[in-house]
Amino acid sequence: MPNRTAVHPELYSPDYADNPSLSGGKCRACGYAFFPPQRYGCESCGAPPEKLEAVQLAGRGTLHSYATVHLHMGKDIEAPFTIGLIVLDDGPAIRSTLTNRTDAGLAIGDRMKSVLVAAGTDQEGNEMVELRFARAEASK
Ligand SMILES: [Zn+2]
Repeated sequence: MPNRTAVHPELYSPDYADNPSLSGGKCRACGYAFFPPQRYGCESCGAPPEKLEAVQLAGRGTLHSYATVHLHMGKDIEAPFTIGLIVLDDGPAIRSTLTNRTDAGLAIGDRMKSVLVAAGTDQEGNEMVELRFARAEASK
């Protein structure tokens, strides 16, 4: 029986039906939250790695900026596609591909939410899922 597999399992779980949380980290010394997870120490207060803990960050935030790529030679994704910088409600900013292929209808300040989209199958036949961000229509 095929399973779902995340393209980047260190960043999110493939098991969500909708609006997945993101695997980030938090500093126990100062409360600073960050994404993606890292083990070097707190970027904000300089606390050592032992003070960092893994936390799940809600996949919701606000669109801070975006850019549409019209010409792309890679085979991983077909142009046009749009990359957004989303400031998560939990603090960190994340750069992510958006479900919107172009910037039509997008505006700075739009409410965004994480979604998982199909990204083919791996060699064992598992369904691959990739994290994207989409406009959260319900917020208006
Ligand atoms: Zn800190």
